[in-house]
Amino acid sequence: MFADLHLHTIFSDGTYTPEALTAEAQRCGLAAVALTDHDTMEGCPRMAAACQVAGIEFIPASELTAELNGNEIHLLGYFLDIENQKLQAALARFQEVRRRRIQEMAARLNQLDVPLRAEAVFALANCGAPGRPHVARALVQGGFCGSLDEAFERFLKVGKPAWVPKFKISAVDAIELIHQAGGLAAMAHPGLNRTDEILPDLARAGMDALECFHTKHSRAMTEHYLQLAEAHQLLVTGGSDCHGLSKGKPLIGTVKVQNRQCLAPAFENPDSGLTPHGAVSKTQARTAKNARQAGPRTQADRHALPETYRLHA
Ligand code: AMP
Ligand code: FE
Ligand code: FE
Ligand code: ZN
Repeated sequence: MFADLHLHTIFSDGTYTPEALTAEAQRCGLAAVALTDHDTMEGCPRMAAACQVAGIEFIPASELTAELNGNEIHLLGYFLDIENQKLQAALARFQEVRRRRIQEMAARLNQLDVPLRAEAVFALANCGAPGRPHVARALVQGGFCGSLDEAFERFLKVGKPAWVPKFKISAVDAIELIHQAGGLAAMAHPGLNRTDEILPDLARAGMDALECFHTKHSRAMTEHYLQLAEAHQLLVTGGSDCHGLSKGKPLIGTVKVQNRQCLAPAFENPDSGLTPHGAVSKTQARTAKNARQAGPRTQADRHALPETYRLHA
């Protein structure tokens, strides 16, 4: 029983529809998936419906860009209530900011004699959460760049001439936003951000989990973050961060965590209430988190560790 808890669709910068992504999940034999599109939950109802038909457990989620002490981090909100008013309002704001950023990037490109129109990016993106990957695709489609890589290297990477800084919600506010919408907050791909020093602050702000398993984490990094999760009493999560076919072959299923260990302590606690092959549920995750905070793990708990290594890269 495996889960992939970090996936994107056409509703942000992925290439799969929710239905196609669900079919891929089925092909990989996944028991549970979370849809974590950037700044939107638009794809969740369709994904939930497809997963129900496929017999796959579905976790509604989103990936928010946040900031703490000048560090950009990505926060995954899991088990979010899609109807939550504050969350809806915040996502609408983030999407508006994204559209304005695209317009600014187009203006900069125009100054560089690249006549890309923001409308072309919006038409191509065709979703509420357009981002740099869509600008890159539009640059390729318009014949201005030979590849997505070239688009990023020449124009879009941090510090390149068409790069525009991104609005980021404070991490503390993001965690609060996720919690008030009934969710659990997890820091995405900590190994890519390299901001270990802010983990204690994030844990103090109530962050629930750490994405120890990620496509771009080496085994050593995974081990490092499992230890940090243990030290800061954070739950462990993992996923492929699949964007579909935009970045080579689809990554879905290449990083999968054991279903019963999703959002479970790094060092499995026999009293955590997680049943073997049990479903991933918010209640179970919360129980696990509480158990985790109840006291230090014993040496015996560490024997469970090798079981958590289920990287299929
Ligand atoms: P944005 O949120 O608009 O800043 O865009 C972030 C997205 O761009 C993420 O999904 C990244 O995976 C993608 N991205 C960032 N840098 C690159 C790059 N050099 N090449 C391809 N994709 C990238
Ligand atoms: Fe992305
Ligand atoms: Fe991310
Ligand atoms: Zn992602």
